[in-house]
Amino acid sequence: MENCIFCKIIKGEIPSKKEYESDSIFVFHDITPQAPIHLLIIPKIHITSMNEINSLDPKVIHEIFQVIPKLAEKNGISEKGYRVVNNCGSHGGQTVSHIHFHLLGGRHLQWPPG
Ligand code: 5GP
Ligand code: ZN
Repeated sequence: MENCIFCKIIKGEIPSKKEYESDSIFVFHDITPQAPIHLLIIPKIHITSMNEINSLDPKVIHEIFQVIPKLAEKNGISEKGYRVVNNCGSHGGQTVSHIHFHLLGGRHLQWPPG
């Protein structure tokens, strides 16, 4: 997708701190971390938001959620816990229109969110 910053990150046109990559997904560190660990997990196929999740291959959805506990383990946040967040649309606080899951951990996170 032209002009999508996350598609550009996948292609290496915008630099990022890559954490993990497979044929279907890309994981990198958020540029403005909201916690000591703040990763973004994205499918390589451009879909806009959670509203379009059903157009993703279920294998990719499965892979995203399989990799999250592995990333948590690797980053030392499995035991104390972490949060997985998807912001959808303007009311959800979504600022980048390429679906992404935030993995946040390394500090006690407040609830409810703002
Ligand atoms: P959203 O607000 O859409 O749920 O999350 C978008 C996230 O992308 C934000 O946490 C923001 O800091 C991050 N972000 C935006 N632009 C870039 C970028 O160019 N590089 C990286 N690594 N993260 C970005
Ligand atoms: Zn994109």
